[in-house]
Amino acid sequence: LLDIKDLHVEFPTQGGVLHAVDGVSLSLEEGEVLGIVGESGSGKSVTMMALMGLVGFPGRVRADHMRFAGNDLLGISDKARRSLVGKEVAMIFQEPTTSLNPCFTIGFQLMETLRLHLKLDKREAKKRATELLEQVGIPAASSRLGSFPHQLSGGMNQRVMIAMAIACNPRLLIADEPTTALDVTIQAQILDLLRDLQKERGMALVLITHNMGVVSEMAQRIAVMYAGQVMEHQRVDRLFASPQHPYTEALLAALP
Ligand code: ATP
Ligand code: MG
Repeated sequence: LLDIKDLHVEFPTQGGVLHAVDGVSLSLEEGEVLGIVGESGSGKSVTMMALMGLVGFPGRVRADHMRFAGNDLLGISDKARRSLVGKEVAMIFQEPTTSLNPCFTIGFQLMETLRLHLKLDKREAKKRATELLEQVGIPAASSRLGSFPHQLSGGMNQRVMIAMAIACNPRLLIADEPTTALDVTIQAQILDLLRDLQKERGMALVLITHNMGVVSEMAQRIAVMYAGQVMEHQRVDRLFASPQHPYTEALLAALP
């Protein structure tokens, strides 16, 4: 489904160039769960931004190849990349409230997404929005359509974001530290939800997190990033049995 080889992303800085991503290769099969772990600033998010066509000026993206679902993503503009990938890849981020608009109800935002992507009419969109909210575990979903983001808890807002992300039936969902902003019990619930949705829909999932415990439960393979590079990209059992890099060893040693 996804195949990235030798990806570099550079940002100009005052003194020179920052190599935010420095030769990353990653691949993902249809329906597979890939975990990406690595310390802050190691290039996890920027790698995904490059895929989505979101790096933007003055960042520079180059790679040996970058393909998604048979499409070549190199040699085209960021805009072309966004429209190619945006139909089939959805993303959720750490902080749901920065992605939802505080001035519109969650029902409105969800219905607009559905109308835009699936060309549903108003009635269909409302029905589908209610179903989606039910699917992501929002109680009394139909009565929640009229709620504004600030009227829901952080965990509920993240559920709404997940509903928005799966609204257009993505083949790949990228979850970039989806639970970091939430308290521990809610974190577990959101991860369970992501796991259930992934299984039900058979969509591929890239789960970015600092938590090795979480990815080891959900992912088939893990990529460990450090200083803009992938240190290892391994099946979970192999990574646990014989970590190749000191940073991975340290991560595993830190597990309870
Ligand atoms: P975290 O776990 O904290 O989210 P990360 O692994 O996702 O970290 P990235 O966000 O990928 O880290 O950032 C990698 C590097 O690229 C960092 O040094 C960051 O400051 C830099 N960077 C990211 N986006 C930009 C940008 N638009 N312009 C300049 N530098 C950037
Ligand atoms: Mg990040």
